[in-house]
Parts: sequence; structure tokens; C-alpha cells
Amino acid sequence: MDPDAKPKATNPARPTRPRRRFGALALVGAIALAAVLASLRVATLAQSAPLPRPAPVNGDRAFRYLEQICALGPRPAGSAANTRQRQLVAEHFRKHGGQVREQPFGAVDPLSGAKVAMVNLVGSWHPELNDRVVLGVHYDTRPFPDEEPDPKRRKDPFLGANDGASGVALLMEIAHHLPELATPRGVDLVLFDGEELVYDRVGEYFLGSKEFGRIYAEQNPRKFVYSAGLVLDMVADKNLRIEREPYSLDLAPDLVRDVWGVARRIKATAFKQKVGPAVQDDHLPLNNAGIPAIDIIDFDYEHWHTVDDLPKNCSGASLAQVGRVVTAWLAEPKPTPPRR
Ligand SMILES: [Zn+2]
Repeated sequence: MDPDAKPKATNPARPTRPRRRFGALALVGAIALAAVLASLRVATLAQSAPLPRPAPVNGDRAFRYLEQICALGPRPAGSAANTRQRQLVAEHFRKHGGQVREQPFGAVDPLSGAKVAMVNLVGSWHPELNDRVVLGVHYDTRPFPDEEPDPKRRKDPFLGANDGASGVALLMEIAHHLPELATPRGVDLVLFDGEELVYDRVGEYFLGSKEFGRIYAEQNPRKFVYSAGLVLDMVADKNLRIEREPYSLDLAPDLVRDVWGVARRIKATAFKQKVGPAVQDDHLPLNNAGIPAIDIIDFDYEHWHTVDDLPKNCSGASLAQVGRVVTAWLAEPKPTPPRR
């Protein structure tokens, strides 16, 4: 209350007591009315924007998945470890109620010219719903750590704990919660292969998400529509900082607003309002296929494409924070479709 509005009941210059009493009563009434109106207004606001409800994401368990994936060794496209990882995740998705399908496709190694068999993995929850969202991550790792500061180590094994395993580990954790999570839309968790079968500058990025987009765009008639896509990449940095990514802002601004809005409301402080560097990632092929999609990425990871992209530089708490935002966003009421 504004202190200037306090009743001046002790003012001796006003002799007419009844009027004073009436004035005081009116003031008390006005204050009470204001309080009722204020509570109604709060109730109305609460009705229009209920608090987000994140799933009880378990950061320790998510981190154990990250370690389990890294224990398979480097997982570039076409490798045996890449296949083992996909099988492990497929089994995990099924165990938690997902319907699993694969999208096999062929590619070529840009250095040797050898054929490389690639496979995207799709796990679907609520497959009967025609309005769907996709959460996508790449599961292949870069063949070599070509940003390694020590040139002698640029052909060493690259484990990709953050750049590769983090997204997969988070999807595995999210899978635990999907049977219980009240989502108005169907959810597809997708592992893209061949995101970076790239040797230094040689090779083509995003083969898996391009294939995924091609299959989706060519579906005719279409059984379902993806109304949104979130790409999760490098989400386990100990010093997590997720800034708004410029392509995402350009291509799917409503989605950026909604996800960062949820992050703000649940105080997920790693999500920054600042606009970060533009990053080409798997969200671009999704947008090209007509799926509004954004990239949730921490691009200032100091061990990016180096031999030190290891579990010890990752954090379960970071995974949990992103998982809370993503599950809370999934559980939000359906956004009203944009006017055309
Ligand atoms: Zn990478």
C-alpha cells in the first residue's frame, strides 16, 4: 500500500467526526475491495498461464547414461560402437513405452569413398496423436578431435561426451517420464546419424536430419504433422550457458519464446536471454522440411572437438536443468496456431 493513502484520523483541524468515520470506513472498504480485485487478477493470470510442470528429471541417472554411452568408445557413423549405442537406446525406449522404428540410409565416407550404412532411430510416444513434436539429437561422434590444441593429438580417439553423448543421455532420461507426462501432443525422440562424418573441413554435415526431413516432407498423404522440433546438442557442459541461437530466432521465433519463457518461469538460469552465435545444426534440415525447429546448444564449450570432451567435463545437474525445461515445455498446453 502507498503510505500516502494512510487515514489521517488524528487530524485535529477536522471537527466533523461522523464524516471522518465515514471516510475511514470508505477507505477500509476500498482497501478490501482492492485486495479482492488484486487476488482475482492473480487468479486470472494464473488461469491464463499456469506454472510449468517439469518432470522429476534425475540428473545423476542422466549422467550415468552419458558415461555408459562413452564407455562404448568413439561412435562415428558406420562404426560398431555407433550400432551398439543405437541398439542400447532402442531397447531403452521400448522398455519405457516407446514405439521404435529405424530409418536406414546409405552415405559415403568423404575421405575413402567407402559406403557407410547410416540409421536414424525414432521412438514414439502417443503414436495415435497426429499433432506431434520431435526432440532430436545426433548420436554419431566426429571421427577425430580436429580442434585439439596439440596438433600431435588430432588423430587420437574422440569420445564426444558433450558433443554426442549428452543429447542421447538426456533423451534416455526423458524417456523415463514420457509415459506419465501429460503432453497435449505426441512425442518423437529421434537419434540422427551422420551429423558430422566430417574430417576437418572435408565432408557433409547433417546427413541423418536431412534424411529424416526428406522422408517427412515426401509423406503424402501425411499421417501426422510435426508442429515443433527441439534439437539438443552439447547440453552437459559443467558451466552451462544456453543463449538464444540466431537461426532459431529467425526460423521459429515463437518456439524460442515459448521454451525460454518456460526456462524463465522455472528459474532455469542456464538459459540466457542473450543472443548467442549462429550455429548450423540439425534444426536447419528440419526447418527445410517444414518443421519449425530450434537449436538448444551451449556453443562455448571449451573442449569442443578436442580429446578433453570427456565425462569429467560434463555435469548431471546441467542435463537435469535442460531436461526440466524440455519436459515442462512438453507439458504446456498446445499453443494456438499462428494466424495465416
Ligand atoms: Zn561436433
